[in-house]
Amino acid sequence: MKKTLRFLAGVLGFEKLSKYENEYLHDSNIRSCSYMGFIVVLLEVWMLIRQSYSKILPKYQAGGDLYELFIKYTSKYWLFLLIGLGLMLFCLFYERSKKISKGRFISLLIIGIACVLYTGVLKLETFTQTSEGITPVMAGIMNTMLVTIYVFLFVIGVSIVIYTLFKYYKNKNLVILEHVVIISFTLVCLAFGIFVSYSDFWGGKEIICFLTMVIYVGCLLIYRPYITILILGASFLGFYHILLTYQGGLSFANQEVIISNIARQITSGDTVNYITFFISLTTICFAIYHGRLNEARKSKALEKSAKEDQLTGLYNYNYFTELAKEQIENITDNISDHVFLFIDVHNFKAFNDQRGFEAGDKFLKTLAGYISEIFHDSLYGRQADDHFVVLTKTDGLIEKLNQLNDLVHKYDEEILLCINCGAYHLNSNNEDPRMAIDRARYAAYLIKNRFETVYIEYDKTMSEAYHKRLYVINNIDNAVKNGWIVPFYQPVVWSDTQEVCSCEVLARWMDPVYGQLFPNEFIPVLEEYRLIHKLDKAIFEAACKDLREGMDSGKPVVPVSLNFSRLDFELMDAVEVLDSLATKYQIPKDLIHVEVTESALTDNFGALVEAMDRIKELGYSLWLDDFGSGYSSLNVLKDYQFDVIKIDMRFLSNLESSEKSRTLIDCIIQMANRINMLTLTEGVETPVQANFLKKVGCDRLQGYLFSKPVAKDVLYDRIEKGELVVSDKCL
Ligand code: C2E
Ligand code: CA
Ligand code: CA
Repeated sequence: MKKTLRFLAGVLGFEKLSKYENEYLHDSNIRSCSYMGFIVVLLEVWMLIRQSYSKILPKYQAGGDLYELFIKYTSKYWLFLLIGLGLMLFCLFYERSKKISKGRFISLLIIGIACVLYTGVLKLETFTQTSEGITPVMAGIMNTMLVTIYVFLFVIGVSIVIYTLFKYYKNKNLVILEHVVIISFTLVCLAFGIFVSYSDFWGGKEIICFLTMVIYVGCLLIYRPYITILILGASFLGFYHILLTYQGGLSFANQEVIISNIARQITSGDTVNYITFFISLTTICFAIYHGRLNEARKSKALEKSAKEDQLTGLYNYNYFTELAKEQIENITDNISDHVFLFIDVHNFKAFNDQRGFEAGDKFLKTLAGYISEIFHDSLYGRQADDHFVVLTKTDGLIEKLNQLNDLVHKYDEEILLCINCGAYHLNSNNEDPRMAIDRARYAAYLIKNRFETVYIEYDKTMSEAYHKRLYVINNIDNAVKNGWIVPFYQPVVWSDTQEVCSCEVLARWMDPVYGQLFPNEFIPVLEEYRLIHKLDKAIFEAACKDLREGMDSGKPVVPVSLNFSRLDFELMDAVEVLDSLATKYQIPKDLIHVEVTESALTDNFGALVEAMDRIKELGYSLWLDDFGSGYSSLNVLKDYQFDVIKIDMRFLSNLESSEKSRTLIDCIIQMANRINMLTLTEGVETPVQANFLKKVGCDRLQGYLFSKPVAKDVLYDRIEKGELVVSDKCL
């Protein structure tokens, strides 16, 4: 029972619609109104021409007064022409905005003034019992109807003009007027249809005008179906009632008319047709309404997916920035009290690695929930990954962030999660949200590894570094194209002879503006913006080219090790890129070592495992970089086939004073030997360190003690001078 009722309520349009659906229906209505306005204009122009030829001209030539004739035969067409024009313009200039546009303002004024002019300047066309086929009762009804239309139009016209001027002055939009204009126009059309058809009927003609007007109004009025039934039903019943009730029987002016009128009874067949017409029309209106509602729902679903972040249901970044832009423009209080926040979760990667992606997603959803609770009165969204953005006010901000941090902190008892939040204070109403967020992001990035710091504000002192970062992002393509990316070479030596057995290739960015940039200034930022593959591809090629030139000119050549970022395997087919370069420059495979850092391998991301296998299959040597630096997992050693382990330089930092460090290095080297892997220790700066490493059996050493990373020419220079000796067993 309840279901049936709900269904009926749905069919009749009683259900509660969302704001979006209402707006969609309204927009569709406005669209049909613009078409209908256009049709009215065409029709009325045509009628004016017709009237001038068929009525005014002959009567004028017969000696009639032109002005009177003009008023008599064209006034109603002028009314409709002007209102149609106004309606069309009004709908054409329709926009969903908080301010009124010039176009709308003018079209509304046209409509208002048309109404007032019509009632004020043009005279009433009154009916008397001497008019053709019109009884005194009919004349009475028609005159009453006319007066009502006139008064109605006058009041509406004046109200529209005043209201429009008032709103225009206040620079606000006029949502109510949209309805007022359409409904008034509808009512005038209906009254006009009844009025003309009533006199047509008793004059022996068909009631086509009424039917046309009803269809016309039906097209204008696709509001809720029950409203359509009400308005159309009332007009049908009203008209029918008028026809039945006032069908003559009073004193008529002449007998012929009486006879013709009495002969015009409504037959039962006509009544049935009349009702059928009403039913078909309302059915069409129902069908259009429900069709539009369906469209609205579909487009809502589409729009939702374009606006929402799929995982968390918050606004996605694009939509967030769009809304933020609008919001910033409308800020009227102190602009610097408004801030953009960039919230990043510290240790989320570790959480993901250890708890799995599903748990990671669940955490992000929970975090989205915390943010929407704590910042419920602000604008917030998800940027990407574990990055969230908020546009809020500074009042109580620190407390809110601490509250958020506490919640995040408590989420997992073992993994230390916390937030890093960067804030950027707005300076003007024209600020670009993306730039602002980027600055907040930069500030957050500065406290990335500082557990105790939750919040940092972007300030002018950060500006230079920030711009350098921005410069890197914007110029990576230029840098690659113009050869600003240059490989430097740092020798690796045998621990026993200290002769050079290979070189690590380390990127330098020789910039025309900033001079030499070091990897810490461009590698992390390129990784963050997923552009690192561009640099790596360039470096790989430059290194291959150097090798080729070296071989061609008969210089001593040692293998080079290339640094691969984890993202290289996601952003390009890194193995394929390397292999085709090696082929292009005809570099023997044993002259290339691939370095992959330990932290890149902590989760078994499928493509990565495959890539590691292919590197080995193709015959390149695979080196594990930075062993022991991050969240080490010995599984990495088990799961992949490394040839060499590079022990992270942090182990050396307190080698001399710490027995523990020494033991640890000793153990790592022994372990590596047991599983048939060779060892290299990086960051060797002192002879004491070098001797110790040699003693405990580390095969290779790399560090400032032997050489800093240098340009190719410097390297050859040193070799020539004998400062560096190239080993004859390099592989
Ligand atoms: P990494 O691969 O661990 O490279 C070793 C870094 O330690 C180099 O820094 C090197 O200059 C520095 N180093 C070497 N010996 C010593 C020493 O005795 N003492 C000290 N204090 N440092 C030493 P660099 O060149 O600044 O590179 C930093 C990081 O940037 C590299 O760390 C690597 O992860 C990354 N990187 C460099 N070039 C590239 C590249 O072409 N592609 C990718 N993806 N990453 C690169
Ligand atoms: Ca390396
Ligand atoms: Ca390293």
